[in-house]
Order: sequence, then C-alpha cells, then structure tokens
Amino acid sequence: MKTPIDRSDIRPKFWETHALEDLSRPEWEALCDGCGRCCLLKLEDEDSGEIAYTNIACRLFDEATCSCGNYALRRQIVAGCVVLTPENIARTAYWMPSTCAYRLLFEGKPLFDWHPLISGDTQSVAAAGLTMQGKTIPEYDIDQDDLEDYIIEGIV
Ligand code: SF4
Ligand code: SF4
Repeated sequence: MKTPIDRSDIRPKFWETHALEDLSRPEWEALCDGCGRCCLLKLEDEDSGEIAYTNIACRLFDEATCSCGNYALRRQIVAGCVVLTPENIARTAYWMPSTCAYRLLFEGKPLFDWHPLISGDTQSVAAAGLTMQGKTIPEYDIDQDDLEDYIIEGIV
C-alpha cells in the first residue's frame, strides 16, 4: 500500500517523550497509521453513546492509498470531517477506533507493535489486518437511510 504519511522529520520516540500538545506538525501527522478507520461512516446510539462503525467510506476516501483523497481541503469539501488537533482530541477520542494512535496516546496507552513508528514498516498495519483498504463501499453508492445495514463488527 502506498502511504502519503511522511515520517522523515520527527524526533526519536517523540510519542513517548512529549505530550500531544508539544508535537511538531510532522510528528502529529506521523502518528496516523493510515488505517483509514476514522473515515468510515459511523452511527452513534443517542442513549448509550455507543459508536457503531460501518464499511461505508466517506466520499473523499481513496481506497488506493487508504487515505483522504484531498487531505489539504478535506474540511472545505466534507463539512462533517473532523480535523484532529491536540485541542479537540478530548472531545473526539471516544469515537475514534481504539487502535488509533491519537486515541491511545490521549488515553495514556502505548502504541501497538504494528504501528509504523515502531515497526519501521508501513506494511505492518495491513499485515495486522487493520487497514480498510479493499473493504469499503463509497457513501455515494448507498442510500444513507440504509446505513444500519452496513454496520461491521470488529472495530471498537
Ligand atoms: S483512525 Fe487514527 S490512525 Fe487510523 S487513519 Fe484515522 S487518524 Fe489515522
Ligand atoms: S474528508 Fe478525508 S479525512 Fe475527512 S473523513 Fe473524509 S476521507 Fe477521511
């Protein structure tokens, strides 16, 4: 899988030695493992707050790279896209996948061994079965009223 994430300009082990709010922009971006899970449409139970993931991908999701098709302009194109920052992670972490580095670090947990920052290999995410590449349906291919029919298990 091709990865658009540049991990060249980062401090060694920065995720263990610096708080999220003290990271440089490249370090912040390098935390993303490229799984694509946050770009899936989700349903939230109004009463319990429980999040259900579907295999329906945001209209800008690019399956070829398993990443956003227009990262720079994503917020202008997709109104519901949340641009993660150190300032909003406390409000957003609950609906991010539990494997996501931003959520893990926010919750004080270590990264998994398959994270490219630790494995040194971008393919290790796919090898661990975590990317959504080849597993999604574009949102424009379905009726939004049928979203519940596309709920998938295994992402929490
Ligand atoms: S869930 Fe987290 S690690 Fe995965 S693509 Fe989204 S931001 Fe990156
Ligand atoms: S706009 Fe891009 S980053 Fe935002 S949810 Fe859609 S594919 Fe993901």
